Amino acid sequence: MSGEETVREKLANFLLQHPGEEFSLEDLAYALGLKRSESKRLYEDLVHVSKTLWRKTDGKVYVAMVPPVCLSCGYVFKDLKRPRRPSRCPRCKSERIRGPLFVLVEKK
Ligand SMILES: [Zn+2]
Repeated sequence: MSGEETVREKLANFLLQHPGEEFSLEDLAYALGLKRSESKRLYEDLVHVSKTLWRKTDGKVYVAMVPPVCLSCGYVFKDLKRPRRPSRCPRCKSERIRGPLFVLVEKK
């Protein structure tokens, strides 16, 4: 088994145990016992885990992203194609950005 599979399995299991709760990338890295330097890989892992859960459950369970927000002016980064933490606000140029949050959604 590769290390990659292990992290993704841990990530899926952790989210399945906490449906409806919002987690930052840092929260997830801490929960999975990853080093801070390893946390960025979780963006890709989250996309992968969401697709897998969606496929396995016929679209009933997936990981949703709460978009990043500028803490200075309230600008919401709604149009991100991929999960990431923008470095600067396009409206006010502030670098005080709250990164994306991730939440497991279970449709009834
Ligand atoms: Zn701003």
